[in-house]
Amino acid sequence: MPATPHVAILGAGPVGLDAALACADAGWPFTVYEASDTVAAHVRDWGHVRLFTPWDLNISRRMRTHLIAAGHPVPSGDDCPTGAELVARLLEPLAGLPALGGRIRLGTRAVAVARTGLLKHEQIASDARAAAPFTLLLDTPDGEDTAEAGLVLDCTGTYSHPNPLGDGGIPAPGERALAHRITRTLPPTDDPGRWAGTVLLIGAGKSAQTAARDLAALPGTRLVWAVRAPDPHWGAVPDDTLPGRQELVETSQALTDGTNERVTVHTGTHIQSLRPDGDRVRVTLATAQGRQEIACDHVISLTGYTGDTGLYRQLQVHECYATGAPMNLSAALLAAAGGDCLAQPAPGIGQLRSPEKHFFVLGAKSYGRLNTFLLRTGYEQIDAVVAAYAPAEQPPAEVSAVS
Ligand SMILES: Cc1cc2nc3c(=O)[nH]c(=O)nc-3n(C[C@H](O)[C@H](O)[C@H](O)COP(=O)(O)OP(=O)(O)OC[C@H]3O[C@@H](n4cnc5c(N)ncnc54)[C@H](O)[C@@H]3O)c2cc1C
Repeated sequence: MPATPHVAILGAGPVGLDAALACADAGWPFTVYEASDTVAAHVRDWGHVRLFTPWDLNISRRMRTHLIAAGHPVPSGDDCPTGAELVARLLEPLAGLPALGGRIRLGTRAVAVARTGLLKHEQIASDARAAAPFTLLLDTPDGEDTAEAGLVLDCTGTYSHPNPLGDGGIPAPGERALAHRITRTLPPTDDPGRWAGTVLLIGAGKSAQTAARDLAALPGTRLVWAVRAPDPHWGAVPDDTLPGRQELVETSQALTDGTNERVTVHTGTHIQSLRPDGDRVRVTLATAQGRQEIACDHVISLTGYTGDTGLYRQLQVHECYATGAPMNLSAALLAAAGGDCLAQPAPGIGQLRSPEKHFFVLGAKSYGRLNTFLLRTGYEQIDAVVAAYAPAEQPPAEVSAVS
């Protein structure tokens, strides 16, 4: 059994904060380690974007209960907040609650997690391994530090680990040398001058669709949109109950149909190479019509994000060879693939477990390369973990035994 009682929560995004509330409710000692100087750093990065999901889907039961108990207003209803509103009206108030007071270490990045005294290949999935505590290596404002934990919840998200833009998911020739010239997060477009000239946008997911919609509205911008699929369906969901998502699909289709003369959509296309050209970047596209070279003032790559699995390289986490998500969860998600993310069944603890006992990958990161993660699912994951460690009134063996 672990020699330390502590629950380490990595990342203070929405799911990490919900996990922290769950630990507080369960009476478990815990620390949240957050790499940034603020909570919810990733959500702030896309703060200008409006979520598809309404307030009622973005707030967990636990969050609501804690806010009410503290006398905070609880946002509710069918309105969809922006990321910034989610931070200001939900995540910051939660982080300020007495239940989490002093438990969030900002500016503290989890660099690596290991089983104390054991290498990755030792004591394979054994009880002896499960009994050893975890050691965390941390980068803190005061330098390197270590911490121990009996249970680790990796909620570090994906947004700071963008995928490369080249064919087959590897960097295109020239991409690495020009990394500083490529925007990889959803850009705000409230300053139209920032995006004047020719913008090459790569990607076809919801982030790319949002960027395409916003850039297409800028009169001084010529948008070239490179999409890998020959006949993209833009993730259309029949009879979509999320109007924002439906609207994006329709806008993307309209742009593909040529309704905006400043926008060219190249489907069935991949990026062959990039090279510098003075202030511009010259990009070669392999399109259905043959090779095309484009001189771009801006390159925006929104080809998805995958979490930092290197964090747990020394642990016995069984990852899916296709998605990179923990195996059991990945298998369940792939079996249900093609459906509406709203229709996903709640995750069971069996899907979240991996051979490395007491270590869980949760939140957006738990989906690996899949992009159907919803906040609601993350909160359900926390429910599943808490229920597994705190059956009925019995304190969790793994946690209480060491407290
Ligand atoms: C543009 C966009 C729109 C979205 N819209 C919706 C929507 O409408 N509805 C919906 O349900 N979902 C939506 N999502 C998906 C998902 O809900 C969000 O990505 C959500 O932020 C995931 O929450 P999280 O807590 O898992 O991770 P994150 O919000 O990514 O939080 C991770 C936290 O961990 C910190 N961190 C990272 N690495 C480390 C480390 N090594 N050590 C310590 N801390 C670390 C980060 O700074 C961050 O604060 C959207 C995602 C994006 C990108």
